[in-house]
Amino acid sequence: MTSIPNLTMNDGHTIPQLGFGVFQIPQDETQVAVTTALEAGYRLIDTAQGYRNEEGVGAAIAASDIPRDELYITTKLTNSEQGYDKTLAAFDASMAKLGIDVLDLFLVHWPLPMFDQYVDTWRAFEKLQADGRIRSIGVSNFEPEHFERLAAETGVVPAINQVELHPQFPQTELRAYHEAHGILTESWGPIGQGKGLLEHEQIQAVAKAKGRTPAQVVLRWHLQQGFVVIPKSVNPERIRENIEIFDFELDGDDLAAIAKVDSGERLGPDPKTFAMR
Ligand code: NAD
Repeated sequence: MTSIPNLTMNDGHTIPQLGFGVFQIPQDETQVAVTTALEAGYRLIDTAQGYRNEEGVGAAIAASDIPRDELYITTKLTNSEQGYDKTLAAFDASMAKLGIDVLDLFLVHWPLPMFDQYVDTWRAFEKLQADGRIRSIGVSNFEPEHFERLAAETGVVPAINQVELHPQFPQTELRAYHEAHGILTESWGPIGQGKGLLEHEQIQAVAKAKGRTPAQVVLRWHLQQGFVVIPKSVNPERIRENIEIFDFELDGDDLAAIAKVDSGERLGPDPKTFAMR
């Protein structure tokens, strides 16, 4: 079975470099999808309170005979539960749904700067980590200005920032900020959310030359940039295809061809203005 390398975060904990995302998988399909992923060799599962499928993830964990310490579970605080006390309560609710005692990684899902609660929220994350209930604490969709505020007002630098990132929107400046501040980069929407990236002629050409699929080429690109990457699929063949990316390498010409795909355009919302809760 494919063995997935670990990356080390600024808190000393490690995270598998490839995981399985479950955004938009209905609750009643989630256990089967996660079980298929675990059987294929995935160990990191990326869910969120907002995905409304944490129970399905928990059912797959309970049904699996993989030791808990070999699994890596991420969930995210949903936007409506930001604030110190609400965060603590929402965390307990997630843990009950997931059926686990200690969470590997908890993320603030969106900064929502217009509501000005992410600093208080982060203080609750720090408490949960200090209490031993979460190994690593991180954020999602944060921009440098949000990190600067956390640094000025709180104590712990987030271990990771999960952001929209793929060859069409490679986040060059944000990645440089992460590197300068010891924050790991995790890519969401890594294969372009089924919105045309895999059909791009540059990606198709590299895939053909390498004898791999477009999804494998793009996922390999993430690995070679040092990102954690969490593709989603409910199709068992694609779930297996998306993990078979550790036995080939993209060379300089391949990377140059993939760089031409950059359009500078997001597929998802802009974190500075996204206000849904
Ligand atoms: P993705 O880029 O992983 O695309 C998933 C889609 O790609 C699938 O629905 C399917 O249509 C297609 N696909 C999957 N495998 C394929 C293959 N081998 N060949 C062809 N097509 C294939 O998009 P995503 O699900 O949005 O992102 C991945 C994960 O990132 C999510 O499941 C979730 O866990 C996380 N995420 C986080 C945020 C956030 O705000 N933090 C936002 C979106 C997603």
